[in-house]
Amino acid sequence: MKAAVFHKIGDIRVDTVDDPRIEMKGDVILKVTSTAICGSDLHIYDGFFPQLRNQILGHEFMGVVEEVGPNVKDLKKGDRVVVPFPVACGGCFFCNNDLHTHCENSNPEFYGPEGNMLNGKGAGLYGYTDLYGGYAGGQAEYARVQYSEFNVRKVPEGMTDEQVLFLTDIFPTGWAAIDWANLKGGETVAIFGSGPVGLMAQKAAWLQGAKRVIAIDPLDYRLDMAKKNNNVETLNPHKVDVIEAIREMTSGRGADVCVDAVGTEAERSTMDKVKATLLMEKGTNKVMEMCFEAVRRGGTVTVVGVYGSPYNNFPVHRIFDKGLTIKMGQAMVQRYIDHLFDLVKNEKVVLNDIITHEIPLIEASHGYDIFKHKQDDCVKVVLKP
Ligand code: NAD
Ligand code: ZN
Ligand code: ZN
Repeated sequence: MKAAVFHKIGDIRVDTVDDPRIEMKGDVILKVTSTAICGSDLHIYDGFFPQLRNQILGHEFMGVVEEVGPNVKDLKKGDRVVVPFPVACGGCFFCNNDLHTHCENSNPEFYGPEGNMLNGKGAGLYGYTDLYGGYAGGQAEYARVQYSEFNVRKVPEGMTDEQVLFLTDIFPTGWAAIDWANLKGGETVAIFGSGPVGLMAQKAAWLQGAKRVIAIDPLDYRLDMAKKNNNVETLNPHKVDVIEAIREMTSGRGADVCVDAVGTEAERSTMDKVKATLLMEKGTNKVMEMCFEAVRRGGTVTVVGVYGSPYNNFPVHRIFDKGLTIKMGQAMVQRYIDHLFDLVKNEKVVLNDIITHEIPLIEASHGYDIFKHKQDDCVKVVLKP
């Protein structure tokens, strides 16, 4: 079959590889019908998460069941399903506590309580390096899905791939960013990053009762999409002092909730890069720090942008002085997905309005290129095997 394979930093090619086959009794093999490129894939593409051997990428995918393992009872050939990105066994301590991205059984080699950069990681993730289980991903014609009955969700008749594809990751991720802040209704929510995850967090903020939603991004074309699709206010850090602007918009106090939907690969000045080199830091945590500044006293900062390494000079004094609540991490897709499916089915939210490019899988390398370099007004690339 054909698949998008990571070879080395900046080098993703569509190769001919072996078809996947049933390996565990609970597996299914999917014929992939749609799969997307995620900002998280860029961390592998850019070398922030090391991967030493070739690997099929892709953790946002859906398709039609082609073959089922001997223990699979509820799924059959021909069922159309979406697949949450974390691989969760459904039976361990963490799965039983709705903490699926910490599953104890899906990442046997590198799992552990430490949470280090190169060991003691969490659950397995599809197409996300050997550190996260070494699973072949879904940017391919076929994919093996483990613990399938616990994880996959059937797609109701009449719904298109594009309507439901983002239930695999980015809508639950945007939803988690807001859910963690426990809105009571009427809050001002400032969301840093208006990429696919930020756009989903904007939708989630309205649905969970925000009164005001502010999107921040240096790319005007992404802010234009945010305004048009999600009816939010926008700020471009190249044009205004974002912290000042947010305080002005909130009687000098700051936003009730700030969301970091950017992560370690935020845009950086040359000075930022020099500082990071001197401190031997990878990427930057500057957006997280901006959130601590822009949030009001007693407010909440949630972080779904990915961070993979430690940072010195962490502003612990500000967090203490302002008495902030902070919550970060991977999204528990399996916790939210059924509720979010209902929201889509009942037309409470539209997810496919962020797709700017739908291209054949065979052009994956071009897809990565335009998504990474923000060319051709690219926001979200869907690949069709
Ligand atoms: P993306 O790269 O398309 O979006 C990032 C956006 O941040 C871009 O639009 C960029 O212009 C903007 N940005 C850069 N510097 C900024 C700054 N200083 N201030 C404001 N905006 C800035 O990626 P994405 O797909 O939207 O993903 C965003 C992040 O979410 C990534 O780190 C990704 O790995 C992470 N993610 C996390 C989870 C999770 O479970 N926690 C799931 C999916 C994605
Ligand atoms: Zn993703
Ligand atoms: Zn588990």
